[in-house]
Amino acid sequence: MFGLIGHLTSLAHAQSVARDLGYPEYADQGLDFWCSAPPQIVDNITVTSATGQTIEGRYVESCFLPEMLASRRIKAATRKILNAMAHAQKHGINITALGGFSSIIFENFNLQQFEQVRNIKLEFERFTTGNTHTAYIICQQVEQASKQLGINLSKATVAVCGATGDIGSAVCRWLNSRTDVAELLLIARDRERLRLLQEDLGRGKIMALEEALPQADIVVWVASMPKGVEIDANSLKHPCLLIDGGYPKNLETQFQHPEVSVLKGGIVEHTLDIDWRIMQIVSMDVPARQLFACFAESMLLEFEKIYTNFSWGRNQISVQKMAMIGEWSIKHGFQPLLLQPR
Ligand code: NDP
Repeated sequence: MFGLIGHLTSLAHAQSVARDLGYPEYADQGLDFWCSAPPQIVDNITVTSATGQTIEGRYVESCFLPEMLASRRIKAATRKILNAMAHAQKHGINITALGGFSSIIFENFNLQQFEQVRNIKLEFERFTTGNTHTAYIICQQVEQASKQLGINLSKATVAVCGATGDIGSAVCRWLNSRTDVAELLLIARDRERLRLLQEDLGRGKIMALEEALPQADIVVWVASMPKGVEIDANSLKHPCLLIDGGYPKNLETQFQHPEVSVLKGGIVEHTLDIDWRIMQIVSMDVPARQLFACFAESMLLEFEKIYTNFSWGRNQISVQKMAMIGEWSIKHGFQPLLLQPR
């Protein structure tokens, strides 16, 4: 059995979802309540592969909200993730993806040191960040959606916002070694880590966001921002492809400009309907078929019976492992989400 540990994007989102899911007692509660709410299994999932194989899974809502980080409720945030992991393990789930901020909190607050959660000794090999598949899918989106817009990668400048992150650095490594992208712009706040990435890649220009945006044909957004940024369409190149892989989204702006295309990043579409209701809640356009690539990673590992933390730690994702999970992704019927005709 596979599992998904997820969370909602804001307090307002959580309140509206609680109402929709039939938990009215949660719907009027503020952040304090969510800080003390226990994890819950809110969905049972059945997925059929393109090969015909069928697997079962569970969705675990951790009750974490990004506002907990913004208001420095760190203890609450870390407790949410550890409790959700213990809950998944207690329910016999073999491989569980840590969606969105779950793996970021795990790494940033070094939760590896807290193995014991009450009477459960966490077996970390039962968990995966899902970031290898996410990075692979974002790279496919760069390669395929650029073609849709007539952007030639060999002449294109690609900016990666969140370049030093787990997903961002993997995207940079893939673009560097598997494509003929002309120029890479590396964006993040910590200059030393940017310098190390640049050294590792042997290329790439380190830039502030405002400086990079007017130069980029494609911007990959994979920064761990609790709230999105506002961008002026006139500050971008035309055409420009924005691939927003953040959860919550990195981009706050809704663009109306005909030459600015925004693609939801790190999202896959399955060839068959999936029997669940959870993707409706996170506003997928086709909720029966579209899902986060990190969640799909735990499905792929279950299909392939690989019960190990395929993606773990930080900045360890190799291009070889991206290619490997990419093969399984295609085999089992997942495709990267691409631009829809306007
Ligand atoms: P990491 O914590 O590993 O990396 C985050 C990166 O963002 C770092 O480079 C960090 O560098 C940078 N960053 C953070 N804040 C800012 C800022 N204000 N401006 C510029 N750069 C910033 O995160 P992950 O790689 O694990 O995840 C990245 C995003 O992808 C998250 O939003 C996450 O929720 C989402 N995600 C999406 C998935 C999907 O399936 N679509 C799956 C998993 C994650 P620095 O701190 O130096 O600025």
